[in-house]
Amino acid sequence: MHNPTPGLPAFDYIKPASLREASQFLMAHGDTARPFMGGTDTFVRMRDGFWREKHLVDVKHLDGMNTIAFDPEIGLTMGAAVNMNRVIASPEVNAHYPLLAQAAGTVASYQLRSRATIVGNICNGSPAGDTTGACIVLQGLLHIHSVDGTRTESLDNFFLGPGKTVLQPGDIVTAISFPLPPQPWTGCYIKLGRNALGDLAIVGVTALGYPDATATSGYRFRLALASVAPIPLRPVAAETILAENSIDENIIAAAAQAAMDAVTPISDTRGSARYRKMMVRNLTRQAVIDVWQKIGD
Ligand SMILES: Cc1cc2nc3c(=O)[nH]c(=O)nc-3n(C[C@H](O)[C@H](O)[C@H](O)COP(=O)(O)OP(=O)(O)OC[C@H]3O[C@@H](n4cnc5c(N)ncnc54)[C@H](O)[C@@H]3O)c2cc1C
Repeated sequence: MHNPTPGLPAFDYIKPASLREASQFLMAHGDTARPFMGGTDTFVRMRDGFWREKHLVDVKHLDGMNTIAFDPEIGLTMGAAVNMNRVIASPEVNAHYPLLAQAAGTVASYQLRSRATIVGNICNGSPAGDTTGACIVLQGLLHIHSVDGTRTESLDNFFLGPGKTVLQPGDIVTAISFPLPPQPWTGCYIKLGRNALGDLAIVGVTALGYPDATATSGYRFRLALASVAPIPLRPVAAETILAENSIDENIIAAAAQAAMDAVTPISDTRGSARYRKMMVRNLTRQAVIDVWQKIGD
């Protein structure tokens, strides 16, 4: 019989002394172990019986995991354990990457954001992650520690399907970094949820734009769509329309239509596939107009 109030199953809490020890433990325990940050996805999935990990590996205390550093040449580097409230309050983020703070501010409640991290939002591999689009259009780079050493992964090829990413056993994301986008850039995230108090997105549209003399229109846009495909989606055809045509309301409408044509949403309790498609068109139009007007200003 279905138990409506399942408890959290027993597990071992592992607190390794180094990243090396953590990666080795994760590698040795394969599917039965998992790293976690805030645990806001992990504990819910375990409580509901979807994940049956025997060991949770806490790496939040290790070097660099909690730092936010900005360098005008390199950009922003954020430790994987930095929670969303810190992102929202960070002077560096607000001065140079306000889109990140805006997207983080749409996630659930203040209480949840005190635990939830941007890296956890990404590594969870959900197409509905609210901060994933901002990280994609800001060209976020994941810094990964594994038993074989360190590497970086771009978000362009990171997502493989719902809950699936390129991460392998032993991989620990230690930080995410962002280059500075071409100036003067601006961006916005529009989230459609069932209520204003915090819910997963029915549709999420992220837009970033900046002047670029090499584009026919004189501008380039980067767009990312949430909750409308098995993975977070970059509607490249829509971006191309905005780069290759002199921008006006008709061209923005054509780009919004191209974004709608690119998505393959499902119907679920939050909304039907048809509704999601139409909202992609409406919200992409709204997001591009918003960015376009701000660049004009
Ligand atoms: C009540 C509630 C409301 C929510 N509302 C929203 C919402 O509005 N918008 C939204 O986008 N999400 C929402 N979520 C989902 C969740 O809070 C976010 O996805 C959050 O960002 C996850 O971050 P975390 O640090 O808690 O991740 P965790 O639960 O710690 O980890 C999530 C996944 O990522 C992996 N992982 C984490 N860190 C690492 C690492 N350093 N290296 C490798 N793998 C790693 C874990 O193994 C796990 O698979 C909600 C969740 C709850 C419970």
